[in-house]
This record gives sequence, structure tokens and C-alpha cells, in this order.
Amino acid sequence: MSQSGTCLCGGVTYTIKSKVTETRACHCGMCRKWSGGVYLGIHVAADQFEISGADTLTTFTSSPWAERAFCTTCGCNIYSRITAPGPHFGTHYIGLGTLDDPSGIALNGEIYIDKKPDGYAFANDTHKMTEAEIMAMFAPSVEV
Ligand SMILES: [Zn+2]
Ligand SMILES: [Zn+2]
Repeated sequence: MSQSGTCLCGGVTYTIKSKVTETRACHCGMCRKWSGGVYLGIHVAADQFEISGADTLTTFTSSPWAERAFCTTCGCNIYSRITAPGPHFGTHYIGLGTLDDPSGIALNGEIYIDKKPDGYAFANDTHKMTEAEIMAMFAPSVEV
């Protein structure tokens, strides 16, 4: 079962070929600035994701190991993608809010939990990882 999504203006559309059941929150400073809040990302392998409207999509290299894509017309954030070589190369983290139907998708993880602003917390029971744990997992070959 696939799921579809769009940016706010509809210029960018995408399809996720596999069924999405879970999402996780990233509390890192880059996602906070990028999303204007808390980024809720859906983990999708490169071969499970198809996007169209790429002429209105801009990618921004946000770190030595990831890029972020947004609609040039409406500014909607579509995904961040791992660009560092290794087992996670090409993995997309698609914004939960851009799905046409985000119902039934559980928030079950929070990363960069040590960077979360102290003024809020999710009530969900989530698997939490610190910045150091994430860096060890995603970018062992990259010096930052
Ligand atoms: Zn748009
Ligand atoms: Zn982040």
C-alpha cells in the first residue's frame, strides 16, 4: 500500500511505495530552524520514494552528511536525505505533515533528545537517542 503527499502549493508531489506506520521527532537545532518547530520525519529508503515536480524543488546541503529539500514556490519542507557514504546513504526523512493522510502513524522515536528545548515534551512512549548516539550511527566516516 502506497501513500502520497504534496507540498503546500501542490507543485511537488510524491509517493511512498511502502506502508508507513511510524515516525520520529528530531530535536536537533537544524531541524528546529528548518521546520520552525519539531520535525517529524518518516524513514523511507531511497528505492521506496518517488517525487515529481522536481523543477520547483530546491535542495540545500545542510551538513557534510545530509541535504534538505523544499518547494521553491511555497517554502514547504519535503525531506532531509542522508548523503554520507555508508549503509544509510540515500535514506529520506520525509515530513509527516506533507502526507495527504498522516492518520494512524505512530510517533515512536525521538532523536537529539539532549537538544530538545525544555519548554515542551511529547507524551508518547518513544525510543530516545542523544546526539552522540545518532552521530555514531549515521556518520561514522564523517568528521564534523
Ligand atoms: Zn509548493
Ligand atoms: Zn534534525
